[in-house]
Parts: sequence; structure tokens; C-alpha cells
Amino acid sequence: MAKFENGIIDFDKNDIENAWLNSPGLVNRDEKDYKMCYICKFHMIKTNFNNAELGSFGWIVDLINLKKLDLNSNNFIAIHPWCIEYKKKTDNRSILKKVKSQLWVFNEN
Ligand SMILES: [Zn+2]
Repeated sequence: MAKFENGIIDFDKNDIENAWLNSPGLVNRDEKDYKMCYICKFHMIKTNFNNAELGSFGWIVDLINLKKLDLNSNNFIAIHPWCIEYKKKTDNRSILKKVKSQLWVFNEN
């Protein structure tokens, strides 16, 4: 269970795993290894957790709805670190729902 202390959210192993599971998958890629960033629609690589280097397809844990500090794991999402600033809303539940209702394919080219 995540803890909020001194303005920082401390996510534990389960939170990080749930954030990964909550993000949209790609139909032609194993969800254990690849997921898709719901903001930019490019892929993320599981083993590159906490890698903020551009081109690494790394990811971090973010809150889907930032309107209140809800630390339930269904409010966690995996996202590229550099995509945080491209979010248009503080509550992204409807955007995520829309993205997850569609099928996404990893582009091999
Ligand atoms: Zn992204």
C-alpha cells in the first residue's frame, strides 16, 4: 500500500505492479513485457521502470485521478516520465477508459 509522506508518494512493489496492469496493452505484444502509454500511445518496456532517459521507453507510476489523493491501486497507472506534463486534465479516468476500449497494435516499422 502506497504511503504519502512529506509530499512524496511512496509506492510499494504491489502498487508498481498494479500500475503496470492498469495501463493499456498491445495486442501483438506480451503484456508482461510491453504496455502502452495512454498519453502518447507509444510503448513502455517493463524492465525499464524508473528510467527517465528519452528513447528508453521507461515508465513510472502516476495517479489517474489527481483531484483527490486516492492511494488505491486502481488509481495507479504506468506512464512515460516525460508524458506527465502532456496530460490535459487532472482527472484522466475517461481518457484512459476510452483508450482501453480500443485495440492497440505495436508498430514493427
Ligand atoms: Zn508516453
